[in-house]
Amino acid sequence: ENLTADLDALARDLDAEHVFHSWSAQGQPPQLVIASGRGTRVWDHAGNEYLDFSSQLVNVNIGHQHPAVIAAIREQAELLATVAPSAVNLARGEAAKRIVARAPSAHNKVFFTNGGADANENAIRMARLHTGRDTVLSTYRSYHGNTGAAIVATGDWRRIPNRFARGHVHFFGPFPYRSEFWSETPEQETERALQHLRRVIESEGPASIAAILLETVPGTAGVIVPPPGYLAGVRELCDRHGIVLILDEVMAGFGRTGRWFAFDGYDVTPDLITFAKGVNSGYVPAGGVIISDEIAADFDERVFPGGLTYSGHPLAMASIVATIDAMESEGIVDHAREVGAEAIAPALTELAEKHRVIGEVRGEGVFWALDLVADPETREPLPAAEMGRIKGALVERGLLPFTADNRIHVVPPCVVTADEVAQAAEIYDEVLATVAV
Ligand code: PLP
Repeated sequence: ENLTADLDALARDLDAEHVFHSWSAQGQPPQLVIASGRGTRVWDHAGNEYLDFSSQLVNVNIGHQHPAVIAAIREQAELLATVAPSAVNLARGEAAKRIVARAPSAHNKVFFTNGGADANENAIRMARLHTGRDTVLSTYRSYHGNTGAAIVATGDWRRIPNRFARGHVHFFGPFPYRSEFWSETPEQETERALQHLRRVIESEGPASIAAILLETVPGTAGVIVPPPGYLAGVRELCDRHGIVLILDEVMAGFGRTGRWFAFDGYDVTPDLITFAKGVNSGYVPAGGVIISDEIAADFDERVFPGGLTYSGHPLAMASIVATIDAMESEGIVDHAREVGAEAIAPALTELAEKHRVIGEVRGEGVFWALDLVADPETREPLPAAEMGRIKGALVERGLLPFTADNRIHVVPPCVVTADEVAQAAEIYDEVLATVAV
């Protein structure tokens, strides 16, 4: 046991000494050590167990260490561990076939990337080449990835200092609980958010706009489920003005909402779909763009000016094939929908009835947010220091949380059981009881 505790200490030392972390001041104390996992649980070297209600970065949809996916990666590694993107490879074709089988019917091609950011980067490039236009509209409440155009399309604080990519314009999407439009009902919110977008399009000049890029359900920004009619209204505006609709399904896709794609729940067909995360639960880095037949045909004769050494990497492709097959044969997407409706929704609703600090519970499937407020009347967000304390208290009790701004996102793997939800709810309950509101 000493030896294993020593490994935790060694991991922390090496990390503090040599590892430069994403989105953080480097002087912060080292984070949790995660050494192994299974399903919804992870462990450090000393054997301390945590319920993973973050799915890491909301990507481990199939749960940790699914044996069929691990076996597929191992088998592919023994056959061929890497291949040039220009070569034909069976694993790549099999992966693409499974992805397009779940996409709308007139979408038959996939461009593979290393993750979500470069998926959006290339989707934006395709939309600009397809339309011959420049401007990309996206929302303030969004995250699209940390590369040139994707980070400028992002709406949150990470975009603010960055003015290097041209042609990006932001607007407000609908958010009934924190409406920018003084709405009192979801219907009003839809109508007014669409009117706002219509005015932005007219003011920018419709003939200059290449694409509207939206997260189907904005994730990091707060699991903001779009009100009825909004996405169909955006599609209509795109059709009227010849604008490409790109739906970012990087976080919302592949089971998270209890559907293969989040947009399956709405009356909308995107032109380009970007994905990553859940497509293979991040066992090997991968993402991509699903391309409509119309846009793909642009590049039948003309060269597509874009590519990546690891586009369609065989280990990633084998893991995609095994992940999708396992999700299908084990009914994992249906399970996500059912566990969401039957276990998570009732548990979170009960918490909200008990704790005034919960201003709103929203979500579906295994994709939920608790919007925490200092005052339920004004809906003033709970301050950052208190959020930090809550996060620490959850970890202390063995729950790995995902927090963002004033929210706890309840985002376990799709395979989470009702028992695990009950355990997590008990931990949330204990910790929220310590918040004075
Ligand atoms: N798009 C969305 C909606 C995301 O949530 C993320 C990552 O959190 C990205 C894009 C970027 O993906 P990646 O970090 O794989 O580049």
